[in-house]
Amino acid sequence: MNIKNYINGEFVNPIENNWMPNYNPSNGKVSGQIPNSTKEDVEKAYEAAEKAFLKWSNTTLEERSKILSNIATLILERLDLLAVAESKDNGKPVSLAKEVDIPRAASNFQFFANAITQFSSEAHESIGLNAVNFTLRQPIGVVGCISPWNLPLYLFTWKIAPAIAAGNCVVAKPSEITPMTAFLLGEILQEAGLPKGVLNIVHGLGTTAGNAIVAHPNIKAISFTGGTKTGAHIAGIAAPMFKKLSLELGGKNPNIIFADCDYNKMLATTVRSSFANQGQICLCGSRILVEEKIYEKFKKDFIEKVAQLKVGNPSDETTNIGALVSMAHLEKVKGYIDSASKDGAKVLFGGNKVLVTGSENGYYLQPTIIEVTDNKCSLNQEEVFGPVVTIMSFKTDAEALQLANDVKYGLSATVWTHDLNRSMQFSKQLQTGIVWVNTWMLRDLRTPFGGQKDSGVGREGGLEALRFFTVPKNVCIQYG
Ligand code: NDP
Repeated sequence: MNIKNYINGEFVNPIENNWMPNYNPSNGKVSGQIPNSTKEDVEKAYEAAEKAFLKWSNTTLEERSKILSNIATLILERLDLLAVAESKDNGKPVSLAKEVDIPRAASNFQFFANAITQFSSEAHESIGLNAVNFTLRQPIGVVGCISPWNLPLYLFTWKIAPAIAAGNCVVAKPSEITPMTAFLLGEILQEAGLPKGVLNIVHGLGTTAGNAIVAHPNIKAISFTGGTKTGAHIAGIAAPMFKKLSLELGGKNPNIIFADCDYNKMLATTVRSSFANQGQICLCGSRILVEEKIYEKFKKDFIEKVAQLKVGNPSDETTNIGALVSMAHLEKVKGYIDSASKDGAKVLFGGNKVLVTGSENGYYLQPTIIEVTDNKCSLNQEEVFGPVVTIMSFKTDAEALQLANDVKYGLSATVWTHDLNRSMQFSKQLQTGIVWVNTWMLRDLRTPFGGQKDSGVGREGGLEALRFFTVPKNVCIQYG
């Protein structure tokens, strides 16, 4: 499939006619060409967005809501097509894309179609001064949305839906590694009746097209999801221009398991939270901390369960673990495994590349469990972002908490316990943006989503996202 930019409601080639190959991770073959867009393409997208802004920001909430709902419906109507495209681009099992990624992309639009009709602002009566204050929440103008490759359409739409719901126009860039579903979204936007210029999609490299969005003087807000290093770079450009910034970055999430938990539920969920999407979810619990009393039992049972996971071609219905997103990423993850012994760590299961019959050139890796004894080792401190988890034991609540917080990241944490006091104490003291108790990745789109420390700033989700994409303005009227 050859990808084009979507600017001003039309599919267009990049101005310089420069293209890059797009690889299918399941077989290593080139699946099509994508635009290698430049600053000039971003400028065209900006101009279209700027032109559309006045009219779009004045459409009624009902009208906006209806269009967002149409987009959600059309995404679901194309569930199979989009799921196959997502899998082809990313390497994830088609079944996962069908169950999670694509339905969630539709939910993102449907959620904000509803949320915008309920979005309200505050009023304050200044009693005794004959004055009333109220807050106008106005759209920002043209905003930039930049998203990563791990949950391509899911995360792309998580930004775009609230941005346009709030009346902004958007210049968006999906990851150059997974452009297909964002491209297919263009047709849906046309069919759904989204006015031209409201959403413009530019494909290309982060360092050129992405950078041009961030550096554009008139793109007033940037919503970014991606790596911490890239987030810091973006903040460095955007902050001196006083842009509004939402940064959803990396994680090194602890999965803390106490002996009093519902063991079977914990075990099944831990397999999922470790290896879903080949471990390439920012919320995966990549550091498993287990109470010493059940450590040996957990180790044995966990290995047994993980050994049953099937690594295979993503289009095979029986596949649990598909391909990693790219050759470069496969090598990076494998590098972490290979250097594990330097840190005194021991590979308990997996660790090797997998040759899948019929897809020999695909980027497959075994789910990997590594036992570590020192939380300071690089495997426990750095984001690997692949099908690799570490396990280590702890003795006391205080030790578990100390280990959990002893990383630079602070995105999410999971705690497995039936002790109410303990679950409250951990919920309060964990330095993360999200805490799950006795579950994982149970998402309610109304909740604030984001991280602490090096996992980012700002919150997405629910009304937080609508607040991000609007400017609050205080109006004070004194009456006689
Ligand atoms: P990157 O930071 O490499 O890229 C993310 C996006 O930013 C891509 O579209 C990329 O384009 C673009 N980009 C890269 N460099 C620049 C730049 N200089 N200026 C502007 N844009 C740029 O992350 P990955 O795509 O590798 O995604 C994995 C990371 O995302 C992990 O660290 C993961 O934890 C994090 N993540 C965080 C989530 C959260 O909610 N906190 C959720 C999901 C993932 P291109 O790919 O074309 O280079």
